[in-house]
Amino acid sequence: MIDSLTGGHSLTKVLLTGGAGFIGSHTSLALLESGHQVVVMDDFSNGSAEALRRVAELTGLGPWRQDATDHWSASAPVGGSLTLIRGDVRSQQDLDRAFQDGNGGISAVLHFAGLKAVGESMAEPLRYWDVNVTGTVRLLEAMGRHGCQTLVFSSSATLYGTTDTVPIPETAPLQPINPYGYTKAAVERMLTDVASSAPGWRIALLRYFNPVGAHPSGRIGEDPSGRPNNLFPFLCQVAAGCRQQLEVFGGDWPTGDGTGVRDYLHVMDLAEGHGRALGLLQAEPPQLLTLNLGSGQGHSVLELLRTFETTNGLTLPYAVVERRPGDSAVSVADPSQAERRMGWRTRRSLADICRDGWAWQRANPQGYRSAGPQPAPELIGAQHGS
Ligand code: UDP
Repeated sequence: MIDSLTGGHSLTKVLLTGGAGFIGSHTSLALLESGHQVVVMDDFSNGSAEALRRVAELTGLGPWRQDATDHWSASAPVGGSLTLIRGDVRSQQDLDRAFQDGNGGISAVLHFAGLKAVGESMAEPLRYWDVNVTGTVRLLEAMGRHGCQTLVFSSSATLYGTTDTVPIPETAPLQPINPYGYTKAAVERMLTDVASSAPGWRIALLRYFNPVGAHPSGRIGEDPSGRPNNLFPFLCQVAAGCRQQLEVFGGDWPTGDGTGVRDYLHVMDLAEGHGRALGLLQAEPPQLLTLNLGSGQGHSVLELLRTFETTNGLTLPYAVVERRPGDSAVSVADPSQAERRMGWRTRRSLADICRDGWAWQRANPQGYRSAGPQPAPELIGAQHGS
């Protein structure tokens, strides 16, 4: 049977750093569904063990059981396995443990672990350089120790800064404008140097545009800690009554309706993009691959708001306020390379995004905290046994 996610390429054991976060948990699910074995290492600073417990449940892996060595497991007739390890990407010991708990055999890493709040990066630049850049140095050293040379890196459209180019191809100049963006640019540079330092490296730099929405089950989704910085989770919290109104940052941008235009893509499309990138890296000769992941469609803040309202039968309060410093009018991907190289393009619409995002928020108004006290396991696992 041809696997539609990987394009029929080999199914392997993979390590996801930061795999308990928003994009990592959805990607874990997509990779498990296509039969991969998944090892997640996460420090739970912005991720949740509950998310992975639900991923195990959704993929038929549960219930998780804890054994004497603090190992959780479950059996089912056939298929993949999921293991969750608490660990910091800056710690060689934690990384070695993650590779060893995978019983060796980890053939690729998907590197999601990192800090991503622009404002926070301006207040605490050293923490951003430490986690995002030093963390990646430590990861690459660990990959060297464990003989792994395949890496998919979570990069960002933030690298393109406030460009006027529409849509933005991968060849556009990189001009980040805040410490968060500088750390992403530094890691891309570092990975480019690593790729050319020795034969055998297979590296994908995936530049995400605006990932939003949730798995259609409503069981996993985005769970920002504190006040959301980004539009979509904020909108969902307004809809749930957790926030009074949406503040629209600027009504005087040079766009159709005066509000900012972005390229929103469903997180499950993004998750599937990771499966494709992994499959391509494994199938082709060693290479450094740089791809935009976006829909290629721009939508304004008000368009997103209206689509959310009509899709979900709601009316949401909002007010237009000052522009947010550092914002640009329009940011839309040229995703044609992703389609050409790996046959990937987004399949889900803005209405799908709004429906699925609201299903998650409505069922989990307090995010994963709605499920009660969080387990804080050192090591959790679930697997299909034979
Ligand atoms: N935005 C807004 N209100 C908010 C958050 C964001 O109007 O509370 C706008 C923002 O100015 C931009 C768009 O929504 O035009 C997307 O912002 P987000 O922070 O989600 O993504 P990014 O700016 O990183 O692309």
